[in-house]
Amino acid sequence: MANKWVYLFTEGNATMRNLLGGKGANLAEMTNLGLPVPQGFTITTEACTQYYEDGEKINDEIMGQIMDHINKMEEITGKKFGDKENPLLVSVRSGARASMPGMMDTILNLGLNEEVVEVLAEKSGNPRWAYDCYRRFIQMFSDVVMEVGKKYFEALIDKMKEQKGVKQDVELDANDLKELANQFKAEYKEKIGKDFPSDPKEQLVEAIKAVFRSWDNPRANVYRRDNDIPYSWGTAVNVQMMAFGNMGDTSGTGVAFTRDPATGEKKLMGEFLMNAQGEDVVAGVRTPQHIDQLKQVMPEVYDQFVKICHTLEDHYRDMQDMEFTIEDRKLYMLQTRNGKRTAFAALKIACDLVDEGMIDEAKAVSMIEPRNLDTLLHPTFDPEALKKATPIGKGLAASPGAASGQIVFTAEEAKEWADAGKKVVLVRLETSPEDIEGMKASQGILTVRGGMTSHAAVVARGMGTCCVSGVSEIVMDEENKKFELGGKTFHEGDVISFDGTTGNIYDGAIATREAQIAGEFGRIMSWADKYRRLKVRTNADTPHDAKKARELGAEGIGLCRTEHMFFEGDRIDAFREMICSDTVEEREKALEKILPVQQGDFEKLYEALEGNPVTIRFLDPPLHEFVPTEEAEIEKLAHTQGKSVAQIKAIIASLHEFNPMMGHRGLRLAVTYPEIAVMQTKAVIRAAINVAKAHPDWNLKPEIMIPLSSDSKELKYVKDIVVKTADAEIAAAGSNIKYEVGTMIEIPRACLTADDIAKEAEFFCFGTNDLTQMTFGFSRDDAGKFLNAYYDKKIFENDPFAKLDQVGVGKLMKMAIELGKKTRPELHVGICGEHGGDPSSVEFCHKIGLDYVSCSPFRVPIARLAAAQAAI
Ligand code: ADP
Ligand code: MG
Ligand code: MG
Repeated sequence: MANKWVYLFTEGNATMRNLLGGKGANLAEMTNLGLPVPQGFTITTEACTQYYEDGEKINDEIMGQIMDHINKMEEITGKKFGDKENPLLVSVRSGARASMPGMMDTILNLGLNEEVVEVLAEKSGNPRWAYDCYRRFIQMFSDVVMEVGKKYFEALIDKMKEQKGVKQDVELDANDLKELANQFKAEYKEKIGKDFPSDPKEQLVEAIKAVFRSWDNPRANVYRRDNDIPYSWGTAVNVQMMAFGNMGDTSGTGVAFTRDPATGEKKLMGEFLMNAQGEDVVAGVRTPQHIDQLKQVMPEVYDQFVKICHTLEDHYRDMQDMEFTIEDRKLYMLQTRNGKRTAFAALKIACDLVDEGMIDEAKAVSMIEPRNLDTLLHPTFDPEALKKATPIGKGLAASPGAASGQIVFTAEEAKEWADAGKKVVLVRLETSPEDIEGMKASQGILTVRGGMTSHAAVVARGMGTCCVSGVSEIVMDEENKKFELGGKTFHEGDVISFDGTTGNIYDGAIATREAQIAGEFGRIMSWADKYRRLKVRTNADTPHDAKKARELGAEGIGLCRTEHMFFEGDRIDAFREMICSDTVEEREKALEKILPVQQGDFEKLYEALEGNPVTIRFLDPPLHEFVPTEEAEIEKLAHTQGKSVAQIKAIIASLHEFNPMMGHRGLRLAVTYPEIAVMQTKAVIRAAINVAKAHPDWNLKPEIMIPLSSDSKELKYVKDIVVKTADAEIAAAGSNIKYEVGTMIEIPRACLTADDIAKEAEFFCFGTNDLTQMTFGFSRDDAGKFLNAYYDKKIFENDPFAKLDQVGVGKLMKMAIELGKKTRPELHVGICGEHGGDPSSVEFCHKIGLDYVSCSPFRVPIARLAAAQAAI
């Protein structure tokens, strides 16, 4: 049987999201619920995939079904493409499985041509409307389908408004718009070299292809990578009868949320514009009205809309984000979806829905996007500092958070300055999808135009970046890179601060402070902890980081990188002396100096952890990372070592390696310089003995982790030294403390021989940063140079250093666990690479049976939530 590539709205439902895309599935569901939806059909995501498989062509079978459905649509609506009596106009809308705001463009009023527009003008008695539709259609079709830039058309509109001495598009009359349509067509012909297509079916086919193509545009590719959306999903195309919000003062269009997407508060939120169409509300062409005002403007429509909001929220059991259009006092629903929201709102909404009896706790936990929690863990303004500051202006609180930084005026500069290590805030008239990279690089985004649903606001909320929009008091001069606000002129590089929770803007920098888990955040996290099996530890080297991580729920330290401690203060001096020693005795003398310092650090760590497990990794990086590079430092070292500068330089040169990543590092250092391992063991064990004395109830059991092993004999050599030293220390102190010795698994050979390695190791911890680079054979420090080409060519969809490669690296991990547990069933296993805080990687770790993940302190809540979602 032939594949079904096209579905009427009456044939679909909400469960068919994978096939029909989010928009299509929900249009069908709303149709089933009996809501007023302009009818149409959805071309499936599979048709999009097929289009690419067929070499960017719509094959005959799919084309045939599209044509059939045009006929069906004509029957349903009683209108016909190109008809002289009752012409059909449609919108062509993209709609992927996961919503990708602003990524794909919609075409409205398709089906218009020279004759049809005349029919419309005449039959409706509203020529202004007919020509408004026509000029919009030419504009959108040219831009979206043929890629003639928007700016050419906008320039023509501006010129026309100037000629007519009017400020707003709505003030242009039928003749002006008719003239504009002609100018647009001329512009099209000039840019494309062909006449504007007049056959509605041809227009439709071109538009459908453009939607398919847009799945592969660079913006969509970047968005997908950032949001873990696979390229293979494809987008659906929705073809829908138009509802006209631009027919005059009894028509309009708007967007609304059933709850406040910024705060989560349960109240209708939204904006509308009378006599407007499509993107007018979000594009910031005119300032929209608050949805509450619709009550005055059109009470019956308002009541009907409120009822629909209740119906939809009850049905989907989640906050809805809806688009509607009023055509001559008749309400049409054009879209509904589970609304995007700030992390703060997400927590409140989930808790409220539980309290309202709409959902259970497990559902609440699974509703929160783990990555979004990040935004709650970012700083807010210090309340004391804020009290002293006086706002110089105010805009809409579009996306919460605190931003303080140097002003830049373009997305490119934002990125450049941020790459150079500066903190920037992006100030613009309005943002567009091209600005995404620059928005990401900014501390915050400030826009002069646009409402709560403007591009800047929506994208900033999605990214968790602070945004204040619609600051109309700003007198902007983008060209000369300056603006005026509060009686002062600000230039590029000046510092301002603004608050995405209040909308206030301040001159200069304001101190910020760190966030805490409390209230709804605390509730959700405690529910999450009920469901998860995976433990969550943290990577921390200092008591300060360890305390922070504990506050955020870490259940231990999974990785303490001891070498980080060597750089503090003048400790590095002793370490350099150790490196430049000629004999074991000299080396031991230098290590003697380090021992008490390191022991003190470990004591503080144990105390911060209050008896929770602490895994301490022995020295890992190659020694050349520690030697001085500056002349004065080299001289100082020469002096203390009683050597000449030339001798020190020779030692430094001798440490040079062609490929340090695969060089003299990890446990190889302990094999060549066992005295380093001896010193570190003493420090770990003595610290534990001391702290255990003060806190016998903590049951301290240090975990010593040997990095980079690839062979069981090599591991045994180092382990024997550790055990001998530790046992002697414990006996001498008359202590009965226990300890464990384990290893990091970060070399493929260790995975392949994990059964042997487990004879020596009491625990495994996957160092997936190294394991990834060793498995792929490219270094994480250099891969950035070519990975972009891999993304462009669709060889890779993600950075394997950010998102675990489950296929290859994951297979090695599975093998290592299996082999290791065969030898030692009680073996405990964790992960401590960057992946430990990445939600999809955490899910994988849950599946393959790890005991814990370990991640940086601020990712701990993310990992806790992801671990719970993996278990639900
Ligand atoms: P996006 O996914 O970017 O939101 P949409 O497909 O939802 O794009 O369309 C963009 C705008 O066009 C929306 O404001 C929507 O309400 C409007 N629109 C889409 N289809 C129709 C239609 N059939 N009638 C009237 N307006 C429409
Ligand atoms: Mg939409
Ligand atoms: Mg490593």
